[in-house]
Amino acid sequence: MTTLLPAARRASVPVQVGAVIVGGEAPIVVQSMTNTDTADIEATVKQVAELARAGSELVRITVDRDAAAKAVPHIREKLDKRGVTVPLVGDFHYIGHTLLADNPACAEALAKYRINPGNVGFKAKKDKQFGAIIEKALEYNKPVRIGVNWGSLDQELLTHLMDENAKSASPKTARGVMHEAIVQSALMSAELAESMGLGAGRIIISAKVSAVQDLVAVYGMLAERCRYALHLGLTEAGMGSKGIVASTAAMGILLQQGIGDTIRVSLTPEPGGDRTLEVKVAQEILQTMGLRAFMPIVAACPGCGRTTSTVFQELARDVQFMIRDRMPEWKQQYPGVENLTFAVMGCIVNGPGESKHADIGISLPGTGEQPAAPIFIDGKKAMTLRGANITTEFKAIVENYIAKRFGAAG
Ligand code: SF4
Repeated sequence: MTTLLPAARRASVPVQVGAVIVGGEAPIVVQSMTNTDTADIEATVKQVAELARAGSELVRITVDRDAAAKAVPHIREKLDKRGVTVPLVGDFHYIGHTLLADNPACAEALAKYRINPGNVGFKAKKDKQFGAIIEKALEYNKPVRIGVNWGSLDQELLTHLMDENAKSASPKTARGVMHEAIVQSALMSAELAESMGLGAGRIIISAKVSAVQDLVAVYGMLAERCRYALHLGLTEAGMGSKGIVASTAAMGILLQQGIGDTIRVSLTPEPGGDRTLEVKVAQEILQTMGLRAFMPIVAACPGCGRTTSTVFQELARDVQFMIRDRMPEWKQQYPGVENLTFAVMGCIVNGPGESKHADIGISLPGTGEQPAAPIFIDGKKAMTLRGANITTEFKAIVENYIAKRFGAAG
């Protein structure tokens, strides 16, 4: 039987982005992107702070026009004043070279520049404008992400490879040529950046597509052909469960193969929805795969005909919310708390057994069972809760347990 453990991480050259290291031996970094108008300083500061509080270790912001570039240093300053130190990454398309040249304070405030080789300029202007951004990266001592996206793939390169393929004795499929074009676009741009003096330790590569099997193929090729740190992400993953499932399927395969140094989950939020969901999903992918620990994991049974009340679902939800809400403080006060496991179970069938496997577990009464909820702590039955305040009492037990086990006196 083959091993179930993830393969060893592919060796990559580490890149420093602000105070965060991407690649090498560093833990896989979670990142996210705002969807505010960057020129709206207050809205962007608020969302960056929310993403950082949720656990995003890098946050990318769009820099699409002069007003956005002018806002960047103010956003950085306001975040710093609030104690939010998360590095900001500038996302540039079409006119990044001009925006960086015209706005030195923006170039300085950003911790990394993202360049899309497919739209940095066309024909003769392409290398010149790409080179102008690399010069700014050299001048301000910043790393870059060369981020190819198949929605804006370099059409000249694709056409050239398609023509070559047509002449070949053993032509590839059109999809195979597309994969090759994506990989070549990234690697040729990286080569150009290196030829200008930007070392591999200042280059991160991404090559995003929106179909799972294409992403797996493209990153497999990149992993074989370079040692640059890789940013993983399925682009345009979609909304709700579809986006989550597609991103998890694609990144799960690659991470299991040891591929990926930083991840972003690109979810389309519901109108007015919570942008931090993409951070939670990214963390959960890494934590459920055993690659990083961010916060206590709650095991909860799905419920069935033996749980006809909603008490158990409400408790599972409330415990999950409590963990998310308390984690920023717990993380500061109680190092190690992120490795805890909780169980919230619906009845006696699997409740006590699963609860004993967790650090703290509660087994609620199923239909027809005695109205009592045994609590298991460190594998042993510690007490039984009854009555209308089970949720409040259980949350207090969790707080006490954490304070005792991880507090200064613990
Ligand atoms: S533990 Fe009980 S309530 Fe939960 S799924 Fe199993 S049988 Fe159903």
